[in-house]
Amino acid sequence: MSKETKKRPCPTCMGTGVIPGVCETSGEWQAKTPDGQICTPDANCPTCKGKGYVED
Ligand SMILES: [Zn+2]
Repeated sequence: MSKETKKRPCPTCMGTGVIPGVCETSGEWQAKTPDGQICTPDANCPTCKGKGYVED
């Protein structure tokens, strides 16, 4: 019996391997940024570590 590892698309990043940055607007940031918007940069998915798939 050979054991096969199944790869499936990562549910966290939907198979892209990247968590896209999110921009948020908040009044409390308006003094810090010109448009009151804070954006997080794109980041490698922590679940699949940027591979885009996970193995069972
Ligand atoms: Zn992922």
